[in-house]
Amino acid sequence: MTTTHHICLLPGDGIGPEITAEAVKVLGAIGERSGASFRFTEALLGGAAIDATGSALPEETLAAAHAADAVLLAAIGGPKWDTTSPDKPRPEQGLLGIRKALGLYANLRPVKIFDALKDASSLKPEYLEGVDMLIVRELTGGLYFGDRARQRSVPGAATGGGPGQRAYDTMDYREFEIERIARVAFEAARTRRGKVHSVDKANVLESSRLWREIVHRLHAAEFSDVELVDQLVDNSAMQLVRWPAQFDVMVTENMFGDILSDEASMLTGSLGMLASASLGDGTALYEPSHGSAPDIAGQGIANPLAMLLSVELMLRMSFGMAEAADALGAAIEGVLADGWRTRDIADASTLPQKMVGTTAMGDLIVERMRG
Ligand code: NAD
Repeated sequence: MTTTHHICLLPGDGIGPEITAEAVKVLGAIGERSGASFRFTEALLGGAAIDATGSALPEETLAAAHAADAVLLAAIGGPKWDTTSPDKPRPEQGLLGIRKALGLYANLRPVKIFDALKDASSLKPEYLEGVDMLIVRELTGGLYFGDRARQRSVPGAATGGGPGQRAYDTMDYREFEIERIARVAFEAARTRRGKVHSVDKANVLESSRLWREIVHRLHAAEFSDVELVDQLVDNSAMQLVRWPAQFDVMVTENMFGDILSDEASMLTGSLGMLASASLGDGTALYEPSHGSAPDIAGQGIANPLAMLLSVELMLRMSFGMAEAADALGAAIEGVLADGWRTRDIADASTLPQKMVGTTAMGDLIVERMRG
């Protein structure tokens, strides 16, 4: 019996529709070889949704996302919708709104160095040997969601002890939030090299001491087969550029993860190659890490590979199609090893005849998978 996976496509704005078309094409080829079939529902998000409905996240989009087995989002936003008016809708409201509505508490970002692209990194190639890590960032708690306030006039708050303003944000975590994100990390490690770095600031922060306690409790109870290493966040920031290959899975709270995942993403040297998955208790959402690249939209030159790597994650994590995911990953690697490049990942050594646009890159991946 053929399994049908229902995907909600959110092409969004800018290059979004162009890279989404490549994802659909590649999923067609994956269907042919795996016997699975994919059903697509396309919905509006971001600027395109504002133009059509006045809202960045229309009700129908939310309903389509909830009804699907997975959501594949390209990118939203662009100068057309830039506004500082608090009363006007903004494309980002669509993105934040859908993450919130789907309860996506775990953000997973793989950072893998493709041999063929080693020279694109700002680190020397010898430091990149063996880099293949997964950052698991807590997405709905911590400093970005805790109590916050700004007080206009507080005695002694200004420099010199006079009255001045005061502001604070609170890093707030509950046991269940820590346990569920740690579980995601340990489970991911079991499918990889079996090692988790739990990153905190337990020498200073009370929330980090709770973090460490809960992570260790879960580890001892259910995941003692996984190696667990505690690391202080300042050390992690340093280790990421000193010896990135030591990491398999890194799990951390929201703000630390925000900063460390951007640092780690630069190891690859290319925005066009980074995928992400956001997981909750229901439908998961997959998206490339880059934006809508309005500067190149409509020119047929966008790199579809981050989108295709997001498809790879979706196959693996939402549909349990490990073999198809491996085949897609291998096809991407093979096409790069053969020297094919979109403009953003080309360098001086790229042969002019191996420079390809969005559609041709998608075709090469499909051909490679058909073998
Ligand atoms: P961006 O990621 O869109 O572009 C940065 C640079 O990288 C540009 O030069 C662009 O051409 C290039 N680039 C990005 N993706 C590429 C790809 N796949 N292939 C080839 N080149 C690529 O970031 P930005 O310019 O800061 O933002 C543009 C718009 O995207 C803004 O409206 C921003 O709010 C939005 N944005 C959306 C998301 C999202 O949807 N998740 C994320 C970041 C930015």
